[in-house]
Amino acid sequence: MPKHVLIVGAGLVGSLAAVYFARRGWRVSVYERRPDPRAKGYIGGRSINLALSVRGLWGLAGVDLDRAVLERDAIPMPGRMIHPAPSADAAATPVGTIFQPYSKNPADAINSVSRGGLNLTLIHAAAAAPGVELVFDRRCLDVDLDRCRASFVDDTRPGDPPTIIEADLIFAGDGAFSAVRTAMQRTDRFEYSQSYLEHGYKELHIPSAAELGIAGVGAGTWAGHGGAKSVAGGARGSARDAASFALDPNALHIWPRGGGGSMMIALPNRDGSFTCTLFWPFAGDHSFAQLEGELAARKRIDPHAAPSGEEQSGVLAHFRQHYPDAVPLMPTLVQDFFANPTSSLVTVRCAPWYRLARDGKRATVLAGDAAHAIVPFYGQGMNAGFEDVRVLAECLDRATGAAGSGDLAAALAEYHTLRKPNADAIADMAIENFTEMRDKVGSPAFRYRKRIEQAIHDAFPDRVAPQYNLVSFSTVPYAEARRRGRELDAVLDRVIERLGPDSPARLGDDRWKQEIAVAAAPLLS
Ligand SMILES: Cc1cc2nc3c(=O)[nH]c(=O)nc-3n(C[C@H](O)[C@H](O)[C@H](O)COP(=O)(O)OP(=O)(O)OC[C@H]3O[C@@H](n4cnc5c(N)ncnc54)[C@H](O)[C@@H]3O)c2cc1C
Repeated sequence: MPKHVLIVGAGLVGSLAAVYFARRGWRVSVYERRPDPRAKGYIGGRSINLALSVRGLWGLAGVDLDRAVLERDAIPMPGRMIHPAPSADAAATPVGTIFQPYSKNPADAINSVSRGGLNLTLIHAAAAAPGVELVFDRRCLDVDLDRCRASFVDDTRPGDPPTIIEADLIFAGDGAFSAVRTAMQRTDRFEYSQSYLEHGYKELHIPSAAELGIAGVGAGTWAGHGGAKSVAGGARGSARDAASFALDPNALHIWPRGGGGSMMIALPNRDGSFTCTLFWPFAGDHSFAQLEGELAARKRIDPHAAPSGEEQSGVLAHFRQHYPDAVPLMPTLVQDFFANPTSSLVTVRCAPWYRLARDGKRATVLAGDAAHAIVPFYGQGMNAGFEDVRVLAECLDRATGAAGSGDLAAALAEYHTLRKPNADAIADMAIENFTEMRDKVGSPAFRYRKRIEQAIHDAFPDRVAPQYNLVSFSTVPYAEARRRGRELDAVLDRVIERLGPDSPARLGDDRWKQEIAVAAAPLLS
């Protein structure tokens, strides 16, 4: 009899896990609270996108889905495009954008993918795999961890009794507010913490150049950033070229507005549009509360309350002042601002990520956001979740393979030992990267620091890799990436002490690079 896994949640991680288990001969049941996106379209916004990088691709490659996702869904972004804050006399002296490559290797790019498109690809792959049953409109209410069984309700049929499903393994892919994890939280010695940023997020929209009636950014642009097209492959290039973009599509756009602790980012979609995300404080200067005015309070009384004319013109004036280059590209800015929700950003940590049933042979296990929700500033939540799935599958393979004991407990213990320290490390790095994106990327001191980092990386490519590269363009464990990132930071501090920001002009580029290498060499371990 094949083993039976019950996967709770057909999101990104749950649907990928279904493919992995099916390929290993398990009988797979996936229960998802939302309607079937194959029939009803993806519910979760019109074009919300995510950055997919090497770890996520490694997770997809374990079931041969990486190339299909890249070809169908992705736009490569080899760097950040900074939109500096306008000067006081912005109209007189508009500030230009600055492109910062993520890596000295022009083939290194993170990829903008549509969340809905990727989820659909994974659900189709799960549905096509043998032995997979997908059940939608079923919300997990609770899990009996001792008996390894879960109860589900169909919210479209109120009054129906809950369905109980029993399995050899329950896999929690039900996200940051996991019902499965909630059941674990009631058990003895389960550690749990959640913390919220004082910043929230709201999504806005930039339509394609064609919709805006303006000249789009041409196909040559991304080769202009160093030829990342070679990574993309022909299919990605031609699909992208068919759409016309209002901004350079081959960059993650950032409008850092450090003074108020705020920023806006924009990622391209394959239809030529961009999804913008505001990361602003909930309260204070440059905040959601400041611009939403009294509307939030009025909406608590009347959910249909509309913004006043004053509130609408306040939003427009604010964007004209702080994001002047984006305003002409956002014809629905004011409507979107008031219609789209303001959501919070949570970090969840917990341990252990598994619990054995009373018989010691069956178990419940957490993965993805259910195990480790992190803030999105390193673009790694989904990537880490895909890595979880492949590592878990490999642990199960080792335990059940020729030399393995067939011991589920041993496999889950190994999975937890391998993943937990790395999840903690990326949670910390994601918060640190928030400060970097928000406060530092626009500053000359930061740009000089990045230039030195790059020069050291160029001089000692086998000994040094910047933390961003290790996180986004390698599968070096996150904890190791963080340790090496800190070591390199200490080296940068010492080199900058010797060769300050005036040194490139003073020495000339070649000599400056030599001096950087001389200063760094004895500091590298
Ligand atoms: C603004 C923002 C930007 C982000 N950007 C990036 C990025 O660029 N790169 C990146 O790698 N990550 C990014 N992330 C993180 C990424 O979205 C998550 O890490 C990823 O979605 C986690 O996948 P998951 O499958 O674990 O959870 P989810 O995607 O949340 O899926 C959970 C699924 O479980 C279902 N579910 C929930 N409760 C129940 C229940 N009780 N019963 C049945 N089903 C249930 C849900 O409907 C959903 O389908 C971002 C997150 C945010 C908020």
